[in-house]
Amino acid sequence: MILKGKPVIDSLNMELKKESERLRLSGAAPVLAIVRVGDNADDMAYERNAEKCCAAAGVDVKKYIFPADVGNEEVLSAVREISADGNIHGALILRPLPPQIDDRAVCRALAPEKDVDGITEYSMAGLYSDKCVGFAPCTAEACICMLKHYGVKTSGKRAVVVGRSFVVGKPAAMMLLHENATVTVCHTKTHGLADICREADILIVAAGHAKLIGEGFFSPGQTIIDVGINIDESGNICGDVDFDKACGTAAAVTPVPGGIGRVTTAVLAKHVIEACARSVQK
Ligand code: NAD
Repeated sequence: MILKGKPVIDSLNMELKKESERLRLSGAAPVLAIVRVGDNADDMAYERNAEKCCAAAGVDVKKYIFPADVGNEEVLSAVREISADGNIHGALILRPLPPQIDDRAVCRALAPEKDVDGITEYSMAGLYSDKCVGFAPCTAEACICMLKHYGVKTSGKRAVVVGRSFVVGKPAAMMLLHENATVTVCHTKTHGLADICREADILIVAAGHAKLIGEGFFSPGQTIIDVGINIDESGNICGDVDFDKACGTAAAVTPVPGGIGRVTTAVLAKHVIEACARSVQK
């Protein structure tokens, strides 16, 4: 089975639209602030996707765009302004920021309750303690949404995560643990990666290497979530998993493109709506 992102997004959007309308009727329209420094093509593509997903879910977007040579104080004061603005419920700060900007100070200037992409220490603590402070990084949550949408059982299953970044690998592993999977996290120093991957019932790959996971890494019955976004030798977008080889053995696999990437921005809209609902409850 090919686990496409679109059906996940469609069903998510149906629920989100209802919730955002309910919030609007109560006088609180969900708003996402997007902070972008410079005009990096990947950032701009992600921003366009985020805007599309927000429009589909009933979330308004307010943009803070700066030139690539903007000063640190200017960006910091925009983030402080967003944090203090009662009409903004979430912020997406496109990173990495250029070297003159103090990334750590920017993350710390963001109000934890508006941290809809899990970049603050509060969100990380919330994720590890399973308490609702901030939000999980959107891509990690998108992996869990994908598994749930397609009815993939996690409880008691053997899950392997390839990659230990703060953005994907670590939070995905923690979320799988909360879903009662038995989790192994692999990284560049792991020995016997193929053997470990073959043992997985659920394999999540976020390494950033085109087709790293290929022949000899798969076993029958596996569900494979490919988070990687790379360019192959012919200039085409591909994942970290050799899709054709995975299809020959595994039970289910996400495509790249058309898999996790699109679900990530839908989860971002979901977080903004949740942040808005939390602020109304307060
Ligand atoms: P990263 O470079 O921060 O982390 C990569 C991780 O993979 C590291 O922990 C490293 O130890 C591990 N790794 C690298 N090579 C390995 C190897 N040969 N064997 C075992 N482990 C290895 O990257 P990231 O930010 O976590 O992103 C990973 C991939 O996911 C990238 O391709 C990125 O473009 C993609 N990504 C996609 C989305 C999305 O929305 N779909 C979002 C974020 C990242």
